[in-house]
Amino acid sequence: MPAATKVRSPAVTQTRAAEDYLEQIHNLIEAKGYARVVDIAQNLSISQASVTNMIQKLDAEGYLVYERYRGVILTESGRRVGKAIAKRHDILTRLLTSFGIDKDTVHKDVEGMEHHISKSTLKVLTLILEELEGNAELLKRLKKKME
Ligand code: ZN
Repeated sequence: MPAATKVRSPAVTQTRAAEDYLEQIHNLIEAKGYARVVDIAQNLSISQASVTNMIQKLDAEGYLVYERYRGVILTESGRRVGKAIAKRHDILTRLLTSFGIDKDTVHKDVEGMEHHISKSTLKVLTLILEELEGNAELLKRLKKKME
């Protein structure tokens, strides 16, 4: 193994921040067909300079392609990460919202949890959500226990 490989710092994409970027970029592309630095900065409440900095790292690691005038395009691996986080975000948000938890709390909790749950845990939560969404009686009964 070449020496340069050994001293390489951990991949930036293994961080929570990188996952948030890929999630936002994925959402923007889904909604608008493209993702610009200005929109990413706004959605993440981060300066455009910081966004450009992170995007260059993600580009170098092969998660996206950044073209100054066209904006950001996700590669296959970037899309995989962005989509997975967006999916966790959606399932967790729907599950907590169905219990009537307030929007701010849901948002705060989901933004943390979406980076930590495994594939199998997500599967369990998805099954519970589907069951609850199809069974108003059960949801009502559970919600009553929260009072
Ligand atoms: Zn999220």
